[in-house]
Amino acid sequence: MSLLQELRENGDFIRIYDQSWHQLANGELVMVSDGVERYLAVSGDISSHFHGVRKSGYLLCPTNHENRLALNELLPFTAPVSFGREGSTFGFGDRLGFANTAQIRAVRKTNVRPVLAQQSLRELQLTSRSIEQVVDAAAYAVLQENYRAGYACDGDHLKTPEEVKAGIASGATMITLDCSLVLQPLADQTDEQWAAFYNGLPEQRRARDRADYLENDVADTLGLHFDVVTLAKLHWVYAAANALIRDVYFSALLPAGRPIDFEISLDETVETTTPEAHFFVAREMEREKVVATSVAPKFVGEFQKAIEYIGDLDELRATMSVHAAIAEYFGYRLSLHSGSEKFAVLPLIAELTHGHYHVKTSGTSWLEVVEVISKHAPALYRKMHTLALEGIDEAKRSYVVHCDVQKVRPLCEVSDEELPEYLLHNDSRQLMHITYGYILRHEDVHQEILHFLKTNRALYEAEAEELYDRHFSALHA
Ligand code: ZN
Repeated sequence: MSLLQELRENGDFIRIYDQSWHQLANGELVMVSDGVERYLAVSGDISSHFHGVRKSGYLLCPTNHENRLALNELLPFTAPVSFGREGSTFGFGDRLGFANTAQIRAVRKTNVRPVLAQQSLRELQLTSRSIEQVVDAAAYAVLQENYRAGYACDGDHLKTPEEVKAGIASGATMITLDCSLVLQPLADQTDEQWAAFYNGLPEQRRARDRADYLENDVADTLGLHFDVVTLAKLHWVYAAANALIRDVYFSALLPAGRPIDFEISLDETVETTTPEAHFFVAREMEREKVVATSVAPKFVGEFQKAIEYIGDLDELRATMSVHAAIAEYFGYRLSLHSGSEKFAVLPLIAELTHGHYHVKTSGTSWLEVVEVISKHAPALYRKMHTLALEGIDEAKRSYVVHCDVQKVRPLCEVSDEELPEYLLHNDSRQLMHITYGYILRHEDVHQEILHFLKTNRALYEAEAEELYDRHFSALHA
């Protein structure tokens, strides 16, 4: 009897994910669900690759890390890949591991390629997950949806060569190098002092700068203005970042011996990245033969988590178009971080880069979790909201948000039916957005949230898919 027939007849499972069924040379496999957990059912000789419980006619395997590695061997499309420098890509964070299926359903309607596994070390720590678990969730989602176009795994916002090496060892196919630790704050000096600082640089270096910046036709064509004072400041702020980029590339990425996408993140700082600074970093990489696949400048205005862009859209358009031209000249994608809910900005980056962009979102899948719970599990929502109020001061130390707790309606005055309205107001939205670490630290509530998601997958997936659809439609993808 075939595996599917067998499973249908024994009736142990609420759901058989037909799309995930695969016939291999010596066996079959398919994903099933008992209404809470998902499993892999495997028959034939390939069962020997997996660990599980023997049932009549098949092996029932937990969707764990060990079995995911076996799956990657048998079905290579379930393993993460790198994307190289072409095309548009989208980074989806999935904090709890339940959003990947919705992300796949949304992205497969577009030409965009998905980074389905993407967590910073901070996010991993706050959600008590490892990068391996994040990839496990993505790999099983890819199998469940039979998504064969490839997905990437981003070791996100890593700051040191050691962090990058660890990310690569865990299987990351993309590294986002966050340079914020080494970006030097600008010193308060007069132009004369800056010129003196510049003239103190070695003659060889200044000769290089003449060709690369002061007398470079490309820079002129891009509308960039370099003079000695500008260059002095760029050396001051970016010298250590340029050294870090080179070090990480040659000591961690190249030795890995497999293609790894390399994003340079300049965005986690207070200073806006000028087009001149972007060009400076890009030209230094080109000279050193460092190949980046994307660069994320800090754009003008405020990109706060989970709310619309705050700032002057005309000014953003003017500067973003120069950043896009620089990225195009050097051949990599222009990258936008904190892209969730920036519906006014997404069309701009799509247009100005001609579709050659990377957009990163992270916490938006978590807010969808909060929203679905506010609609369908009011008692659980109230527990989460109470914890969020307790944890907000701590969370505000690591996230830049306006969130004014005084403006959040007291929970005791809000009826169950009105709870979802909290997600419509910026203050309460950000309150719930940035306190996920504090909420999840409470193991009972954490488990209750996971149980809700396991037993309400379809509800959550429908909401999340719709949210990502709106992002792609803003990108005209
Ligand atoms: Zn960033």
